[in-house]
Amino acid sequence: MTTVQTNKILREGPFAGAIEEVACPICAQPPVAKLIYRRDNGVGIWQCPACEVMYASPRFTEEALLAIYETPDFFPADDLKKFENFSHGQWQASGAETYVVSALKAANIKRYLTPGDRVLDVGCGIGLFVLEGRQQGFLTEGVEPSKMLTDIARNRIGIDVHNMLIEDFSPPHRFHGVGLWDVLEHVYDPVRILKRCFALTEEGGYIFVSVPNFAGLADRLQTLLHRLRLRRCGFKHFGFPWHVYSYNRRSLGMLLAKMGYTPLTFETWSHNVRTGKANHLSSLTDALIRKHCLASNVSCVARKI
Ligand SMILES: [Zn+2]
Repeated sequence: MTTVQTNKILREGPFAGAIEEVACPICAQPPVAKLIYRRDNGVGIWQCPACEVMYASPRFTEEALLAIYETPDFFPADDLKKFENFSHGQWQASGAETYVVSALKAANIKRYLTPGDRVLDVGCGIGLFVLEGRQQGFLTEGVEPSKMLTDIARNRIGIDVHNMLIEDFSPPHRFHGVGLWDVLEHVYDPVRILKRCFALTEEGGYIFVSVPNFAGLADRLQTLLHRLRLRRCGFKHFGFPWHVYSYNRRSLGMLLAKMGYTPLTFETWSHNVRTGKANHLSSLTDALIRKHCLASNVSCVARKI
């Protein structure tokens, strides 16, 4: 990935750090990028005309980016309160979105793998899917670079996870499935992460990826309003500073193919589905959103063949 040091410091809310300029990480020789929007602090949201990935530039250096995930601003105290006296049963009974989404991930994995298979959750955060995967019979492990999130996984959720970068993770076995949910928008270099995931996946194994989808209906509307200068909230729906990439089916598929995976399916989960509120009245809309990838996140299952 090409980066250019700027010797400048960016202040973004409570965060401050060195910044650098980047280009498309997917294309070997990226064409001139298109500027989608320039935030008030000078950060541009760009799009590669070839693979269509959207990215922030300039953005924090790797060191400054990793530091964000150690601050309480990334996981506020109010969110932490939800996990006091945590148990799987209470979490399941609460019907919280975190539980519904974890159960959806497990159901998706069950279409391709069987209980007893090894599944690695890369960027597992506070370990919720590692827990749910074990409840469903999978041999799940998690890797999480943030010490703050690892401590929450250990002390609140009761799940031990590997506190390190995936690049430094060298287990004695490979995995039948690798989950990379809500990670590739956060990381310094998605190609470097996927290269390590590929090496850790068994031949014939699967990767399950979920990323923000700039082609979602609400995201398209927000982008349009910003480009027309009718909204000036600073492109917050992009998620900067911790989100530095956004994808659609094309860019996600090209990225996975570049790394050697064969994409099998793409889909999105509507708000109703993610919050467990889907019913027969919403079933047609939910199915359309799923099929045409119109929600704010897009998921892909890809195989190492
Ligand atoms: Zn590109």
